[in-house]
Amino acid sequence: SDAVLEVRDLSVEFRTERGPLRAVNDVSFRLEQNRVLAVIGESGSGKSAMLRSVLGIQPGSASITGQVLLQGRDLLTLSSRERAATRGRDVSMVFQDPLTALDPVFTVERQLVETLRRHLGLSRQAARARALELLDLVQIPSPEQRLRAYPFELSGGMRQRVVIAMALACEPSVLLADEPTTALDVTVQARILRLLREVQRRGTMSVVIVTHDLAVAAEIADEVAVMYAGRIVEMGPVNQVLLDPAHPYTRGLVEANVQPGQQARPHSIPGAPPSLSRLPRGCAFAPRCEVATLTCWEERPQPVPAGGTRWSRCHLLRSA
Ligand code: SF4
Ligand code: MG
Repeated sequence: SDAVLEVRDLSVEFRTERGPLRAVNDVSFRLEQNRVLAVIGESGSGKSAMLRSVLGIQPGSASITGQVLLQGRDLLTLSSRERAATRGRDVSMVFQDPLTALDPVFTVERQLVETLRRHLGLSRQAARARALELLDLVQIPSPEQRLRAYPFELSGGMRQRVVIAMALACEPSVLLADEPTTALDVTVQARILRLLREVQRRGTMSVVIVTHDLAVAAEIADEVAVMYAGRIVEMGPVNQVLLDPAHPYTRGLVEANVQPGQQARPHSIPGAPPSLSRLPRGCAFAPRCEVATLTCWEERPQPVPAGGTRWSRCHLLRSA
């Protein structure tokens, strides 16, 4: 079936004083309508850089190559004006800190109404009515009152709801979310996730959510992509990937996560991810992998099928 979002050979390279740094390396995936993809991995694995580059948001020193096809249109070839028009209307983004998305000097009403008028060309009155509907959609109590509030007058959870309402304002076909619940306390986190899932299930929107938290991925995602050192090393249906990981790195991540009811302290994966400016020649995980062979140090593993629609990059799977 047709992909809403298709990313092909996406790479992001930063120029640094120590030479080029590949934050994202040949990432490809397809996302169908009404699906949720969670991108997981340790910090520094390139998850956020990958998500940002989908929207072309990177510092000036970055070079982005590849294709990002949104309903068949390559976002990376758009002019900055065209891209700005696309952002918010066809695809929107929610960040970890809601304050980065909100202007502290304007009320919620002003920011929501402005977004609605700019993108949808609504009259002030129609935009206000729609703003109230949106606040209701994201389950904000007494929406009339909240419209008049300034961001600092709201709790962290309420602010993130407002940001989500703004992101949903134009009914984008794809919502990109970078650790949207990480800054919130656990109960609020669970409520926001449930909200995102409900909103997503009610409409036709697809979601890409970046998280370091496997419980978040398990809660919300249909599919999971596991990133390591800028590459996707395993991707497939959420249950398959998280309950029966094919890649040794995914296995390590799963074992490092606290399981409900588990007594023992989870053990984290020994070692640290490699420097992105000095990647090993073969498998980037080899220095930390308990089952590495000589081939692993010399040859870069290519994606191989690992049951159903799941695939993974590991030499052991090829010989299995
Ligand atoms: Fe480990 Fe080798 Fe597989 Fe890399 S390719 S994850 S080093 S077994
Ligand atoms: Mg990040």
